[in-house]
Amino acid sequence: MTNETAPPAAPGRMGRKAPVYAAACRDYRPETAEAAVNRLLSQWKGLEKIQPGTKVAVKVNLVSAKAPETAATTHPELVCALCRLLVGRGALVTVGDSPGGLFTKEALAHVYRVSGMDLVGETGAKLNFDVSTEDVSFPQAAAAHVFTCTSWLRHADVIINFAKLKTHGMMRLTASVKNLFGSVPGTTKPEYHMRFPETDTFADMLIDLNEYFRPVLNLVDAVTGMEGNGPTAGTPRDIGLLLASESPYDLDLVCADLIGLSAQDIPTIYRAAARGLGPADLTEVTLAGADTGRYRVADFTPAAGKSVTFAAGGVLGDLTGALLVKTMRQVPKVKPSECISCGKCSRICPAHAITMRGVPHIDRSVCIRCFCCQEFCPVGAMKVHRTAIARLLQRKEN
Ligand code: SF4
Ligand code: SF4
Repeated sequence: MTNETAPPAAPGRMGRKAPVYAAACRDYRPETAEAAVNRLLSQWKGLEKIQPGTKVAVKVNLVSAKAPETAATTHPELVCALCRLLVGRGALVTVGDSPGGLFTKEALAHVYRVSGMDLVGETGAKLNFDVSTEDVSFPQAAAAHVFTCTSWLRHADVIINFAKLKTHGMMRLTASVKNLFGSVPGTTKPEYHMRFPETDTFADMLIDLNEYFRPVLNLVDAVTGMEGNGPTAGTPRDIGLLLASESPYDLDLVCADLIGLSAQDIPTIYRAAARGLGPADLTEVTLAGADTGRYRVADFTPAAGKSVTFAAGGVLGDLTGALLVKTMRQVPKVKPSECISCGKCSRICPAHAITMRGVPHIDRSVCIRCFCCQEFCPVGAMKVHRTAIARLLQRKEN
């Protein structure tokens, strides 16, 4: 069934511009988390939209069944603090996500338990176990004119998007904008990589999801982020901030800046800017609360090195554009010594590019570089890899 009652088109950039609020948060102790959440939301004028009886869906990041200390998921203590605040205002709060893999009640129960998200039951909020899905039409979209989404999000009065700051193989950063990919049922996600195989089109699809659902507020747990082999198998890295904004694009640009990246590095940010929805540069962002500049992590390890831009006639000399792209692009690569030969990457690959020969063998001619294999490898054996020449040129450029 296609639902034709899509929300109205997004207004221009001026209509979406919103401050980014920041609050220091050193750790996840309940009292620290509660103080940070309350401080952050006291700055948000939109809190008045949450009235007694308002049905609030809190869309967290539960990418897979990972414990809080792995920094792969939104931390449950922060979510609990938010739920207490919302329930205290009389709201009817439901917390959930669609992790990768099966979207079933059993799979959700497992992820809630491992991630510690079960805790929200003690706040008066409930966890989502509605696994129904529906097809929606969004004519104003740039890419996802029709898509399948989880029903629980559509039927809330308002959505609050509560993401985690992590590296991401394909999108470089997963924070606020990317988190809305969890509105797509887990088993459907690989299809979207095939429908939108190009990085910029995939970014447009993610932006479309944000424009369709339009959360009233977006929060990012950047207390401890994830660097390196994110978004599931990287290394936890303390940053010490909780951030929020009505604009997911302004918010993500601040997140990118915290880890040493710019708007040009993040497809969802530069595509949002091109569409008149987000800032093209940090100077366009209005900041409130804690001084985010003091929290920048200068040596944060990105997914696979910084992006590289070369001036004409520079270090690459005669390399043409097509060869340049091929030379510099990132690819998935297994580390055999870490692989347990479970075959999950092979089963999840939307392009059917992986065959198991003891360890995975990737047919690069059909790989679309979606990094699903890297994202869902249970032991982090699949890495985001850059060619030797790319690494060499990066060092030279630096
Ligand atoms: S091999 Fe990995 S990156 Fe390539 S298409 Fe398959 S899942 Fe995506
Ligand atoms: S998912 Fe990871 S551990 Fe399993 S076969 Fe693939 S690379 Fe190896």
